[in-house]
Amino acid sequence: MSVTARELLQELATDAGLPYGSVARRVNRMMSKGKGLLSAVREIAESRGLPPEKYSIRVDKILVEAERILQEDYTQTLMISAVLGQMVEARAPDNFPAPAFFAFIELLSGLPDAHRDTKSESSREIEDRTTRIIELMTTLVSVICEWSEQGVVGVAEGCPESLKDMARAVFRKTKLLQGGLWTCISCGNIVNVRETKALMCYDCDERLSDRSPDERYEAFGGRTRTGYGRTSDDT
Ligand SMILES: [Zn+2]
Repeated sequence: MSVTARELLQELATDAGLPYGSVARRVNRMMSKGKGLLSAVREIAESRGLPPEKYSIRVDKILVEAERILQEDYTQTLMISAVLGQMVEARAPDNFPAPAFFAFIELLSGLPDAHRDTKSESSREIEDRTTRIIELMTTLVSVICEWSEQGVVGVAEGCPESLKDMARAVFRKTKLLQGGLWTCISCGNIVNVRETKALMCYDCDERLSDRSPDERYEAFGGRTRTGYGRTSDDT
């Protein structure tokens, strides 16, 4: 079983004797019409006479790997978070869709602080880790959430029990965003999407603008955050 969507498509392409690109295009097309990743892949498998149930995503492995990367090193996590935040703010849906970002924040806020080490990762290493996190989180939301043409429409039927809170939070925040609202990543308050700065409400941005990147990070999902990550009391 595969860990990410790319690996799953690769597996299907190999088994079906099709070029990766044509499988990827077909899956993309089916997903843009609202089909889920797994059902799209299984439908293609079936049409090629392959057993559909063979094709699955190891959600547990996604979590283990993402958590390992995010706990490796504090500075690295800080930089990954900043890059993802910029991508979401730039509204680049093809690169990093908002639902994947919401899942990332949920995951990050549940983790203990990464340790601070003295060795500094090269920018190349950080870029690789960022790319991997993007791939992992994008795959995760495509499996735990129910999708339609409009985007996330709920919790996927096959979503593991332990991830239902995360899927609900992703769904709720995506729905708000579609309605022009954003959940401030620092205080958790809901504000108009046009009244945000660096993914935060004006108040939080104001409060943090003189602070160091470390302190901004704490607001982003670090341990001393004041109100973010309240998946249990706000869903
Ligand atoms: Zn705020």
